[in-house]
Amino acid sequence: MRASAGRDSLYVVRLLVVEDEPRLGAALKRGLTAEGMLVDLATDGPEGLEAARHGEYDAVVLDVMLPGMSGYNVVRTLRTEENWVPVLMLSAKDGEYDQADGLDYGADDYLTKPFSFVVLLARLRALVRRNLPARPAILASGGVTLDPATHQVEVAGTPVALTPREYALLEYFLRHPGRVVSKTELLDNVWDATEDADPNAVEVYVGYLRRKVGREVLLTVRGAGYRLRP
Ligand code: CA
Repeated sequence: MRASAGRDSLYVVRLLVVEDEPRLGAALKRGLTAEGMLVDLATDGPEGLEAARHGEYDAVVLDVMLPGMSGYNVVRTLRTEENWVPVLMLSAKDGEYDQADGLDYGADDYLTKPFSFVVLLARLRALVRRNLPARPAILASGGVTLDPATHQVEVAGTPVALTPREYALLEYFLRHPGRVVSKTELLDNVWDATEDADPNAVEVYVGYLRRKVGREVLLTVRGAGYRLRP
């Protein structure tokens, strides 16, 4: 995931905060917004439930003691409706419920008030990260990058258009860096088994690929195959 970390940081986290104490609600909204998140604030149970149902949130920060409907009932209702948005509950230490009750109702994590903003932020980040759609890492070698998610290929930062076959070849090389790949191996892995192809076809396509990504990127290992430039 290291190569895609930069992309994750560009991902804007959308949060719903359900908190009826005006000062705490405002402070949370301000603090989380300052962290680059998009924050909606709801101030009672039913409003929070409606927002969680219809908003596309990455996580919900949910107070337990709320007017109209408790946080426990909000999270329980969401889970019965098969809404799995990550929920972090804020429980009061002297509340009538045990702190961990929220987990039984379907919350993912909880914090006891009063809590530190830094801790809240860390727990929220962990919660959101767990639920981010998996992004395949960008493959890179010798100035060539290939993004399996977007099929974008760049050479020294400039996008290059490849045919599907050239793309598949390059991806195979990038997934096997530092070792010699034989023509037979390429035929087995890049060409369809039903295709009538021979080692000459591999040579032809490696030639096409070299013209686009740079001759020096793919080294010929005489009698053995090809190797990606280290
Ligand atoms: Ca409250």
